[in-house]
Amino acid sequence: MTAAARVIRGRILSFTENPATSGSPAHVLIDDGAVLVAAGKIEAVGEARDLIARAPPGAVVDDHSGSFIMPGFIDAHVHYPQTHVIGSYGAQLLDWLHNYTFVEEQKFANPEHCARIAAFFLDELIRSGTTTAMVYCTVHPESVDAFFTAAEARAMRMIAGKVMMDRDAPDGLRDTAEQGYDESKALIERWRGRGRLDYAITPRFAVTSSEAQLEAAGALKREFWNCYVQTHANENKAEIARVAALFPEARSYIDVYARAGLLGPRSVLGHCIHLQDSEVAALAESGAVAAFCPTSNLFLGSGLFDQARLERAGVRIALATDVGGGTSYSMLRTAAEGYKVLQLNGQSWPALEAFYQMTLGNARALSLDKRIGSIEPGKEADLIALDSRATPALAHRMETAGGDLEVELFALMTLGDDRAVRETYVAGEPLKR
Ligand SMILES: [Zn+2]
Repeated sequence: MTAAARVIRGRILSFTENPATSGSPAHVLIDDGAVLVAAGKIEAVGEARDLIARAPPGAVVDDHSGSFIMPGFIDAHVHYPQTHVIGSYGAQLLDWLHNYTFVEEQKFANPEHCARIAAFFLDELIRSGTTTAMVYCTVHPESVDAFFTAAEARAMRMIAGKVMMDRDAPDGLRDTAEQGYDESKALIERWRGRGRLDYAITPRFAVTSSEAQLEAAGALKREFWNCYVQTHANENKAEIARVAALFPEARSYIDVYARAGLLGPRSVLGHCIHLQDSEVAALAESGAVAAFCPTSNLFLGSGLFDQARLERAGVRIALATDVGGGTSYSMLRTAAEGYKVLQLNGQSWPALEAFYQMTLGNARALSLDKRIGSIEPGKEADLIALDSRATPALAHRMETAGGDLEVELFALMTLGDDRAVRETYVAGEPLKR
């Protein structure tokens, strides 16, 4: 992070509220605007000519006129060790884990492999305009050290954790309840709150964690109450049947986690597709977050996320790629597939709501909205320049957008990907190569 001030010029677009529930305009748009950043933070936002005039001498001006300047995207559920298995053919969840993921994750016993993949993964997020993510590592503590080292080198705000799994996985990928606890605790003490890093206690899911291990994860959560928790729930029908057989005393899949003390406002549960009413109620009551992973749910044939039902019940929702079950690092691609999933459920999703979700909505879901997710003085300067005319097809489509923001954003999310990201600023520094 350098101290040099920078003026980033473009069409400022930032949300102040959720457009789905706000009675008044929920966003700020400044057509010829600018953001003044210094020492990693946003100092001022306003009209370009005003900010350029008052910028300190020597400030760099990055002119992205015509492109949107938005907060960096946030991905609420993603697996960095799966960059080599994204796009692997022909399996549903449980086979996919055993045939592809668990084979790949064994390579993370090697710290050099961890470092190489962590660097690729973070650079790919930056190329896609994602500046913060909640990330699964593998069972190996080395995989967490490598990930946080790479995130720290880029000054990125990241949440991650060591996968805990003590059964139904190959030898090299199992810990024990006690080992999972000890290793997670040591990682929490080493990394949590260092720079922009935070930790998520990460039991993979109830199929691969014994009751003793889930209890150990719950004990960690009580000890480090402000830590995040991430896991998977109710993704696939065969998985749900397996959990019911493994935990006959639990009332439901979600109840398995509730009994272990793993539900709360800092808990993010991937998928949450096939839910009983009592499970929806338990999620809402606890403040836990359901992570909608549309490209993954379609790719693995898992099912259709019911956003309207969860919203009605007051469940907090996030949007996520779930790479490598998910098929794109791009939150634009993810939102586009999310729209199609909701269409299949008879629901809709205006682009303004989708862009809210990718930025401030996900920041709120991760309890990070005091720091990131919108463009306001004092917030961290994670910003992207997004060009809605980046490709011939986008430029052609914009000829008929008629200056309507909703039309423009919807076409951008439907046709856009990493090519639309002109620049990604992390703590004020341009990092897209
Ligand atoms: Zn996942």
